[in-house]
Amino acid sequence: MGNAREPTFENALAFAQDLIRIPSPSGDEEAVARRVIEEYEALGFEDVRTDDVGNAIGVVKGRGEAPSVMLNCHLDVVAEGDHSEWEFPPFSGAVEQGFLHGRGAMDIKGPLALQTYAAATLMGRARGDIIVAHTVFEERGGLGMQRLLDSGVRPGAVVIGESTHGDVCIGHRGRGEVEVVIHGLAGHASAPGRAANALDLVPAVLTALHKLAEAQAEDPMLGRSTLVATGVDVLPESRNVIPDKVTVVVDWRVLPGATDEWMERSVEAAVRAEVGDPPEGLTVEVRMAAQPQTTYTGITSERSLFTPGFVMDPDDPVVRAAARAVGQRDGDGPATVRPWAFATDGGWSRGVHGIPTVGFAPGEERYAHTNRERLNLDEARWTFERYPLLIDAVHRALL
Ligand SMILES: [Zn+2]
Repeated sequence: MGNAREPTFENALAFAQDLIRIPSPSGDEEAVARRVIEEYEALGFEDVRTDDVGNAIGVVKGRGEAPSVMLNCHLDVVAEGDHSEWEFPPFSGAVEQGFLHGRGAMDIKGPLALQTYAAATLMGRARGDIIVAHTVFEERGGLGMQRLLDSGVRPGAVVIGESTHGDVCIGHRGRGEVEVVIHGLAGHASAPGRAANALDLVPAVLTALHKLAEAQAEDPMLGRSTLVATGVDVLPESRNVIPDKVTVVVDWRVLPGATDEWMERSVEAAVRAEVGDPPEGLTVEVRMAAQPQTTYTGITSERSLFTPGFVMDPDDPVVRAAARAVGQRDGDGPATVRPWAFATDGGWSRGVHGIPTVGFAPGEERYAHTNRERLNLDEARWTFERYPLLIDAVHRALL
């Protein structure tokens, strides 16, 4: 390993700049995955590979004293929008005014580089294996993490590099998109008697959704589950035609434990209770919204638009160890422990597979997905210094 690249903060930053310069929308992560694999090899990682869906995986072997810890970020980034509205071009990876700039600077290529390099600093002295697994399609529901875990990879714990601003994050609500589809009989607007207007059931469906929204449960850490109608699609679109298909779109932020089947059944029951027997010619169908996704490796799956939530007990040994190891950046005592406001791949690792999962990363949520995306370099350096302590503490907590 004598010739391996030095795992310094400066080299991690240069790696992050390179990653920002390679655009990687969901489903088009191949070039960035290749660049990540190259870095794993330069750093001397073992078992370096991409899997069937294109996740980039490498391992820093431990001494075999503790279960493995997985470090996870995602390879994809959200769209950058209009380049002219960026102060620094989105794919420049500029380092100016004490910040790393560009799409992915904080969500998540900066943290990805820091995590990867933090793992490298523990080469030869980690208690257990460190699996560095950066996944595809996180920004569109987490197909990469889902498939990685379904393939049998089973770390003892997962540390996610989504921005926490130096806190330790332990959960978030999940999100599902449900569709209430009303089918009718189309007809010319001049002769309503010959049609069955699918719009007629919209008021009852909205009432049902309001009632269901009022009955939502609350979690002491994550707050209330919320459900709201966010759109009505009408087909055909002609304004002189009575529509035969109306879709009411529901955005549901669910608590941990909710599954897509349960969401579908709940909305269905609420709508049935309100609509009763629909009038002649009208039927109602409830289903999860779905979209086909194709990975850059060529695997297509029809996915329901659902990301599970999760929450860790603040007293869980892994959470306590992580908070103590990270500490407060300005002050004494363990790091602040809180939920994220947004969804992560932790919904799959903890919510579905039960693997202890925490988040730790630099970056402020308010810059994510915006044209002002940036990462504070002082905060990034501090995070980089704390990460090896965090990994070691989690290994010890798993003993
Ligand atoms: Zn992210």
